[in-house]
Amino acid sequence: MAKPDYIICLECESEVEDFTWRDGEVRRAVCEVCGNSDADAFSLPEEFDQDVDEDEEDEEEAEYVEDYDDFEDEEEEE
Ligand SMILES: [Zn+2]
Repeated sequence: MAKPDYIICLECESEVEDFTWRDGEVRRAVCEVCGNSDADAFSLPEEFDQDVDEDEEDEEEAEYVEDYDDFEDEEEEE
């Protein structure tokens, strides 16, 4: 895998361009925003985006919102 332009700090979600890349993974990185220097606590931009997509796919929660709308209609009878 080619070296990315930047990586994402998982502690504060900042873009970090100052890191050491070797053998397809992050070897050393320091986040200037929160001071995180644990190489395991950084993610590649591509991997970070995939995680976000998975969280949005929750259809059970969408049904819950519809039930809540019915509730509100009943309260408008003043
Ligand atoms: Zn950070």
